[in-house]
Amino acid sequence: MIADKALVVLSGGQDSSTSLFWAKKHFKEVYAISFSYGQKHVLELELAESLCKTENVPFKKIDLSFISSLASNSLTDSSIHMDEEVPDKALPNTFVPGRNLFFLSVAAVHARELGIKDIITGVSQTDFSGYPDCRDNFIKSINISLNLAMDYEFYIHTPLMRLDKEQTWALADELGVLDIIRYKTLTCYNGIIGDGCGHCPACKLRKRGLDRYLEHRK
Ligand code: ZN
Repeated sequence: MIADKALVVLSGGQDSSTSLFWAKKHFKEVYAISFSYGQKHVLELELAESLCKTENVPFKKIDLSFISSLASNSLTDSSIHMDEEVPDKALPNTFVPGRNLFFLSVAAVHARELGIKDIITGVSQTDFSGYPDCRDNFIKSINISLNLAMDYEFYIHTPLMRLDKEQTWALADELGVLDIIRYKTLTCYNGIIGDGCGHCPACKLRKRGLDRYLEHRK
């Protein structure tokens, strides 16, 4: 069944862009929302916007730059050296506290304004680097809180929740957009589009998944 309208939380990276195409397959009308939260690489927002333009998806950008002034992390503060690996018993300093909490709350208000109940986010707990706000229990919990907060029946979809990076590439291929995702999205923490710098944690994860997928597809 193809449902009516949905709103995608889009960052311009591999996961959320793949989720955008997943949404286009499952919903008649798809909208997107992106957030500027003080991230070092504004290119990801430009990519999100240009993807929406090409795909005829109405796009809204919201400024949440207060997030970067609340707590320090290496994605918004250039003076902090980025953790290359997930440290034992701690979160990597690429964790932006509250990010998905704020993103989903703001997205929900925007969705309600548009008469939308279905919200899509590309979070995944399989390759989640230990980020607590990418886990299924957090998504279920905020879904209930948002419904109670606005007396509204939101449904937060997480098509990538149980997929690892290889399976996310397989999904992009199945949706017929492997090359768009590969060359027109930005996942790299060093701000390099497509295959990226190759050595930051995000690139390593993305590349390992792609190599495995291409190998198995042969
Ligand atoms: Zn990189």
